[in-house]
Amino acid sequence: HDLRNEDLKDLHELGQGNGGSVKKVEHLPTGTIMAKKIVLIDAKPSVRKQILRELQIMHDCHSDYIISFYGAFISDPNICICMEYMDKGSLDGIYKKIGPIDIDVVGKVALAVLEGLTYLYDVHRIIHRDIKPSNILFNSRGQIKICDFGVSGELINSIADTFVGTSTYMSPERIQGAQYTVKSDVWSLGISLIELALGRFPFAESSSDDSDLSDFEGTLSPSRPHPALSLTKEQKDKKKKRKSKGVSLQGGGMTMSILELLQHIVNEPAPRLTPEGRFPKEADDFVDSCLLKDPDARKTPKDLLKHSWIERSRTATIDLEAWASTF
Ligand code: ADP
Ligand code: MG
Repeated sequence: HDLRNEDLKDLHELGQGNGGSVKKVEHLPTGTIMAKKIVLIDAKPSVRKQILRELQIMHDCHSDYIISFYGAFISDPNICICMEYMDKGSLDGIYKKIGPIDIDVVGKVALAVLEGLTYLYDVHRIIHRDIKPSNILFNSRGQIKICDFGVSGELINSIADTFVGTSTYMSPERIQGAQYTVKSDVWSLGISLIELALGRFPFAESSSDDSDLSDFEGTLSPSRPHPALSLTKEQKDKKKKRKSKGVSLQGGGMTMSILELLQHIVNEPAPRLTPEGRFPKEADDFVDSCLLKDPDARKTPKDLLKHSWIERSRTATIDLEAWASTF
């Protein structure tokens, strides 16, 4: 039962990311609805075949917290990856639609991601490498699953060659060129959880009239559609004072380059769940431990499964199916 492109009927586009797009499709012979990811790979046929071979590991990934895999094939010049369709989409889309996500739901997200990461690493020695809200998917059965993990070394290399997108969930040690470990995924999880709980990317400036958010002064916010970042007035002043380190500003000084965000992640204190007291102390503590800047001090996903907030989230009786039906 090999998947063939001819058997897939395009329904509509689900979204676009770096170097590819995802479509909702129907597998006509079986009537199965799938998500088909189309990745443009600018590589030799031999490399493409190698990628396809490496992707087959996904057939052996079976976990409630990992998107199921139906198969992959080459459709020149693309590689198509067919996976389980999640009808409520990714968590970035959800918070952009409904606003900040309730902290108890965020706790269930943290639990699911840690379970998924632990499964991938313990069973397959796979490190995810791309944890972010758009790679955490949700469905109307109330399930939370992760997708787009780095199973294929060749695919990672091929995409890295053309990679220009946001690296904003990247840990300080990765930015500084250290080897990728499961702990880098933990950092990305911490950033993602803050984003979901606050309803905005954590390296975000306050809007000018939001005096209660003044702790965000001096931090950054992404400006769409480019991975460029706006500066608050304070930052611009600071920046003038310390004189630009050769990083050019775009658009008359209103935006800064991705390079500056990366410098910020490395040099400034990590973001936190703020303001103090808005969220349970255990949640604050969990996020803080994900965002320890020293990877040696940061725990692994497996260890973090024992954190008190995660244990509490595990036993929490929130009806995610009911929650899903509200949007
Ligand atoms: P990114 O993850 O960077 O947004 P992708 O190309 O991986 O880029 O995915 C684009 C969008 O497609 C995602 O943001 C997500 O909303 C949607 N998507 C991806 N996979 C699925 C899936 N299996 N089911 C439903 N929606 C999906
Ligand atoms: Mg993705």
